[in-house]
Amino acid sequence: MKLALTSGLIALCWPAMVVSAEEPYSWPDNALAAVSLSYDDALHSQLDNAIPALDKYGFKGSFYLTLASPAFKARKQEWQAIAKHGHELGNHTIHHACRGSLPNRDWVDPNNDLDNKTVADLVAEVTTANDILRQLDNQTIRTFTLPCTDTLASGENYLNAIAALFIGVKSKVAGIPTNMKSIDIKSVGVISAENLTGEQLISLVKEAKSHGTMVNFTFHGIGGDYLSITSQAHATLLNYLANNKKLYWVDTFRNISLHIVDTIE
Ligand SMILES: [Zn+2]
Repeated sequence: MKLALTSGLIALCWPAMVVSAEEPYSWPDNALAAVSLSYDDALHSQLDNAIPALDKYGFKGSFYLTLASPAFKARKQEWQAIAKHGHELGNHTIHHACRGSLPNRDWVDPNNDLDNKTVADLVAEVTTANDILRQLDNQTIRTFTLPCTDTLASGENYLNAIAALFIGVKSKVAGIPTNMKSIDIKSVGVISAENLTGEQLISLVKEAKSHGTMVNFTFHGIGGDYLSITSQAHATLLNYLANNKKLYWVDTFRNISLHIVDTIE
């Protein structure tokens, strides 16, 4: 009899327990969403325009450096200096190999075609890139953004082979996540931000807030270079975030990944 009563009680309580399991995800300082501001390919306009704008508000960005890029080779000391100021230097490989066999990929250099490289080639390249970045910033915990969202080298998945080298990986274009439980920190989706206005960027941030999740912006040029947004659109977003600091946790993808690994995985 006592047993039957107990199990009846459990049955009654069960729906209430399910509801409490749906509590919102917890971000630092009771923020309602996390915002990652990432900049790919090591471009001049990032050093010239994005960094001064971020520094004006004290925001820390994540810079996914292509180490063979002209703006990396020519301005290595400046990239080292931004790391000293708390910005993140992320790995975006050395040569930025993409798959030449995909549509609209006429621009892929046959000598740097991911379809002709092996998984072992990529593991070696990405490992060397980590070593070079470590010489600049002394960091041992690193994140990665996949060039062109291409996972296959000669038809084999290289992302799986390098995932263990990183705490977090941005690997695909996707919308705002609707819950944090679905997040795979080794394959996070990003918003590809080219041509968006300040207002459009802000509406994406608000969408993340409505779900209690995060927004991962991937920028390229800021007021210059390619796949750009204007400096004005960038400033409009940063100004909104600065005016709503209690609502949003703006930090590097390294720190956001560390938080997610601590709390979900
Ligand atoms: Zn890239």
